[in-house]
Amino acid sequence: MTNKYMYFIANWKMFGDLRTLNSLDSVIKFSKNNKNSKFRIVYCPPNTLIRPLSKRLKKTNLEVGAQNCHENENYGAYTGHVNSKMLKNVGAKYVILGHSENRQSGETDKLINLKIKSAIKSNLKVIFCIGETLSEKRKKRTNKVLAQQITSGLKSIKNTSNIIIAYEPVWSIGTGLIPKPNDLSNSISFIKSKFRKKTPKVLYGGSVNNKNITEIKDINVIDGFLIGGASQSSKKFIDIIKKTFN
Ligand code: PEP
Repeated sequence: MTNKYMYFIANWKMFGDLRTLNSLDSVIKFSKNNKNSKFRIVYCPPNTLIRPLSKRLKKTNLEVGAQNCHENENYGAYTGHVNSKMLKNVGAKYVILGHSENRQSGETDKLINLKIKSAIKSNLKVIFCIGETLSEKRKKRTNKVLAQQITSGLKSIKNTSNIIIAYEPVWSIGTGLIPKPNDLSNSISFIKSKFRKKTPKVLYGGSVNNKNITEIKDINVIDGFLIGGASQSSKKFIDIIKKTFN
């Protein structure tokens, strides 16, 4: 049973509409009834839902984040994009950056670094995703990849107090596969070892659900979970939180 403060961050990806927000009432109730518990819940819905969700969560201790932002924190002619300042303005407190689904569609380490800098300037907390692909894992390059993603993504960022790292092996996202507890513990410890001054919180993400949570909840270097698919069901999401503390 864990006794430390844990993050539970919901990544809704491109799912959800205004009606979906009603399903959060049970999570709000759960959080109210467990005020003294050591968890922090953050919902990262699509941008269309940030404002209505942040209004709905106003008197609760749940928080709202976004799933990406443009690298330029100034306004500009960037059709279809949204910057960190705009996200902050509509109630986001966090932003997920470096997610593998965006890396796969062309986001480079350099671009992610610019996005992180812009998010920090706008006072958003950054959930910085890193993780190896299956072929990198097979070639035993996991630590090398993680080190390189950290070095490039956080280049010339001295103050990392607003950075949370999410270790998300690419092969585990949406596949139902999770790392072996020992491998997971080693990877998270390796990530933490890369920070000499202030060690950031390091979360695990990738196919976490209300069944496999029992296999990984006791890995004491983990500071929480980034949850995709299972976070769309409030029942499963609450179950994951409950089981983490049992
Ligand atoms: C994610 O996309 O960040 C994620 C963890 O997804 P899933 O839980 O669905 O694997």
